[in-house]
Amino acid sequence: MTAYEYIDHEYDVVVVGAGGAGLRATLGMAEQGLKTACVSKVFPTRSHTVAAQGGIAASLANMDVGTTPNDHWQWHLYDTVKGSDWLGDTDAMEYLVREAPKAVYELEHYGVPFSRTQEGKIYQRPFGGHTTKFGEGPSVQRTCAAADRTGHAILHTLYGQSLKNDAEFYIEYFVTDLIMTEDGRCQGVIAWKLDDGTIHRFNAKMVVLATGGYGRAYFSATSAHTCTGDGGGMVARQGLALQDMEFVQFHPTGIYGSGCLITEGARGEGGYLTNSEGERFMERYAPTYKDLASRDVVSRCMTIEIREGRGIGADGDHIHLHLNHLPPETLAERLPGISESAKIFAGVDVNKEPIPVLPTVHYNMGGIPTNYWGEVLDPTADDHDRVLPGLMAVGEAGCASVHGANRLGSNSLIDLVVFGRAAAIRAAEVVDAKAPNEPLNEKSVEKSMARFDGLRHADGGISTAELRLEMQKTMQSDAAVFRTDKTLAEGCEKMTAVAAKVHDLKITDRSLIWNSDLMETLELTNLMPNALATIVGAEARKESRGAHAHEDYPDRDDVNWRKHSLMRVDDNKVELTYRDVHLDPLTKQEDGGIDLAKIAPKERVY
Ligand SMILES: Cc1cc2nc3c(=O)[nH]c(=O)nc-3n(C[C@H](O)[C@H](O)[C@H](O)COP(=O)(O)OP(=O)(O)OC[C@H]3O[C@@H](n4cnc5c(N)ncnc54)[C@H](O)[C@@H]3O)c2cc1C
Repeated sequence: MTAYEYIDHEYDVVVVGAGGAGLRATLGMAEQGLKTACVSKVFPTRSHTVAAQGGIAASLANMDVGTTPNDHWQWHLYDTVKGSDWLGDTDAMEYLVREAPKAVYELEHYGVPFSRTQEGKIYQRPFGGHTTKFGEGPSVQRTCAAADRTGHAILHTLYGQSLKNDAEFYIEYFVTDLIMTEDGRCQGVIAWKLDDGTIHRFNAKMVVLATGGYGRAYFSATSAHTCTGDGGGMVARQGLALQDMEFVQFHPTGIYGSGCLITEGARGEGGYLTNSEGERFMERYAPTYKDLASRDVVSRCMTIEIREGRGIGADGDHIHLHLNHLPPETLAERLPGISESAKIFAGVDVNKEPIPVLPTVHYNMGGIPTNYWGEVLDPTADDHDRVLPGLMAVGEAGCASVHGANRLGSNSLIDLVVFGRAAAIRAAEVVDAKAPNEPLNEKSVEKSMARFDGLRHADGGISTAELRLEMQKTMQSDAAVFRTDKTLAEGCEKMTAVAAKVHDLKITDRSLIWNSDLMETLELTNLMPNALATIVGAEARKESRGAHAHEDYPDRDDVNWRKHSLMRVDDNKVELTYRDVHLDPLTKQEDGGIDLAKIAPKERVY
């Protein structure tokens, strides 16, 4: 093995990732006086969060929707619980919706340029699954928006604020692995600096993984090419569990062909879907909320329409999204970004024609299990909530779990800032800034560098691009919107074989400077355990819940399956165990909390 030299750094906190979650955590840690580094493989404002369009949910009650009050945190909680199909942790969901308004006002004060109402308040639009009066009233306008570029606005603001608070940035550093002690505490990370090939060891009292989702495990996804589940890969390599990985969200409106997203805000502003007969078919499936039913529901209805021969186009394989009835001023003011995307990626003028769309992989509900402070869990049979010292996970990489089996639109951006902020609050309590850092466990470093070196010199029979495509095609066809025992069993078999081929990879570039061949290979080795955990978890879950629509088990089964899946991935094998869902809220009803009868499980209809 090549002898590598290390450049060493010491911090109180190292945040891996500079998307919305990573930057909110970085900013919070730095504000609390912790010496904080943020390490990112891309320039911070190129993180996938920059692409978030529609907005961020919080019950600010700024819009008159004909109810009194206009919104309430308990209604947001009800919608989130129902959206999760009763798989989310109640304490974490309560924390999310109660902290949401504070977190949004903080963003406003940091400088996020939100769109405004006539009175100058933050503008809020309707989004799927967000309702009033515990699902009894009309749709609510809860999603705070900066036109259709909300993620862009948030990311730029948080980056500026992090710099102002003296957080230190390591940009275009690829983190390869966690450094762990023999007794299982996290001590830091190893990173490869992409432009000069140096290897860096970051010693930290707390590591925060904010590495985003793993949409690129699929062939067609709305997420950036950098969304490769690196944090999940790092955690899996340490023998730690991933959670609820079988739940993958398909967004109803990816542009047909390119997969580029058209925000749900488009339907929030009045857009609607039609089939080849020109029928507004959502009225049949979801009479109350129609096109604004929850995402998993709309994606399934679209898939059924296509399957039953009412799809659009020569191959009858897509659906139309109409915005052409909306006033041109609304499109220009509220949806300028997607008007541009529709032109570029579908050649469509949204003022005149409908956009061809198709359900496209969009979000990972599963991830690294955490409590609502962002602390990573290492559950045992006796203690499902055991905390792993020194490691946190926030954002799409984590699973708190507030989205359960299905995430509501605009509930991710709020998850990023609420839990990024919570992680900082918690770190200020558990990290002793005065204590010295411990020496790093050299064995852990050596093991990781041996893997790195092995991949760098890999000389097998299959290229990274070929193997990645095999994985993506398998996931796309066998872990899809609808699943059956047969497709899942075949998919597991295929994915087990695909994952084994990681040992037969061939790399042609052996350099350490701007070696995209090696970087994509490292990313593939991270995607692989995420993908495998997804399909194995899906195969095991004999029910339908949220995004997991199992045709052989069409009903939700709360008696046997209201539990979180835990997947430990070792090479191409997955060990499955389960963890209890937290049913207790943070606040008792007599102290102003929600009446639990309001969020008791029932049939999920919109
Ligand atoms: C097109 C699109 C539109 C969306 N619109 C909305 C919306 O309107 N509302 C909403 O609530 N949600 C929306 N979502 C979902 C939401 O935007 C994402 O879930 C969220 O932005 C993820 O943020 P994150 O901070 O967890 O990760 P990301 O923003 O993906 O950032 C990940 C970070 O980790 C870094 N990183 C990863 N691996 C490594 C490594 N190995 N070494 C170093 N750094 C690493 C990257 O450099 C990056 O900085 C949308 C998603 C997409 C794809």
